[in-house]
Amino acid sequence: MKYKKVGLKDVWEVIWRLIVFIVLELTAVIWLVENGLMILWIVVLLGLLIWIVNWHCHYFGYECDKCGHKQQINFLKEFYTINLVNRKYLKCEKCKKWSRAKLLAIER
Ligand SMILES: [Zn+2]
Repeated sequence: MKYKKVGLKDVWEVIWRLIVFIVLELTAVIWLVENGLMILWIVVLLGLLIWIVNWHCHYFGYECDKCGHKQQINFLKEFYTINLVNRKYLKCEKCKKWSRAKLLAIER
């Protein structure tokens, strides 16, 4: 797996997905909650979250701040770890230390 620095194109990939997320969510709130379909709205919300997080963990990787090891993380880890803008608080799979791992895009 090859990694590269996060560029403008990668930022744009995130932004358009966030826009889709917000637009669909707002539409869902207006249509579903208005009609008392709260459950459906939660399903839409979860679906969108899974879509974005799943895409994010395949598109990006992280570089350990301590030893420079680069790793990709799985869906669950992506979900429950803390994001620090372009970094993530992660435990390195190589040196086993916690650090503020740097966000990298995966070259494809
Ligand atoms: Zn490390």
